[in-house]
Amino acid sequence: MGERPVVLHTIAETRQQLDAWRGAGQRIGFVPTMGALHDGHLSLCRIAQSECQRVAVSIFVNPTQFGPQEDFAKYPRTVESDIEALASCGVAAVFAPAASEMYPAGFDTWVENHTLTTVLEGACRPGHFRGVTTVVLKLLNIVQPYAAYFGRKDYQQAAVIRRMVADLDLPSIIRVCPTVREADGLAMSSRNRYLSVAQRREALVLYRSLQAAQSRVAAGERDAAVVADEMRAMIEAVPGAIIDYVAVADADTLAPVTHIDRPVVALLAVRIGATRLIDNELLEPR
Ligand code: AMP
Repeated sequence: MGERPVVLHTIAETRQQLDAWRGAGQRIGFVPTMGALHDGHLSLCRIAQSECQRVAVSIFVNPTQFGPQEDFAKYPRTVESDIEALASCGVAAVFAPAASEMYPAGFDTWVENHTLTTVLEGACRPGHFRGVTTVVLKLLNIVQPYAAYFGRKDYQQAAVIRRMVADLDLPSIIRVCPTVREADGLAMSSRNRYLSVAQRREALVLYRSLQAAQSRVAAGERDAAVVADEMRAMIEAVPGAIIDYVAVADADTLAPVTHIDRPVVALLAVRIGATRLIDNELLEPR
């Protein structure tokens, strides 16, 4: 068990602590999260730890990235055990603000990416990415990290954040780190704890369909529709699974692809009962 991180609730005390470390010449690595931490989050902390002298993690269930019908109210909040887990991987500081600290009365400025956010998650969750880009810009301004670490599990989110950081000339480096999976392939997610035992089994179809797509492309298939249709058929064969989208897209722009002649990514969002899960894998033509 490592030392307990310093837990900060206000922007002012966070700035003061991080200024002191930066002033001592230490690189700050930053991992933004919504808490309910699992090994996916902790892997980001470990990568940050290997590149920076101090790692700061934010735990903030950001209300502005949830739609009115989404799970904001019931999103799991486990701050005490989160802090223990972060202590075990050597995290120096946790920033856990109240919503009123991040969005005080009168808050009126938003960051909006225009093109990348019109497809996939952006099409299914109107306003979601506006909440994400706004809160991530605020967090980067508060923490001012040398580098910030994101998971490839949220592929489109990482692409949108990279775009924002480039477009707005932010000085932090953005690192996108591999998806951590359970032993059977299910991508770790704070939302997996909503699943019943039977749903947990059904949820495996996300990874199985991504693996099928990888095998098809590795075996020479170049027609993106064939790959996507096979994924859809596999998912539709699971009674409890409802597809929000299945897409094969350009790995950089997320534009739809018809012929697979460059790096592409298969992305999907599937509802298992009331739980919405997303996953993705890069598909490599040989
Ligand atoms: P969240 O708490 O879900 O907002 O996620 C915080 C960060 O952890 C984001 O950058 C996610 O992409 C990342 N993350 C979530 N799940 C995983 C996972 N299974 N593997 C790697 N990174 C993840």
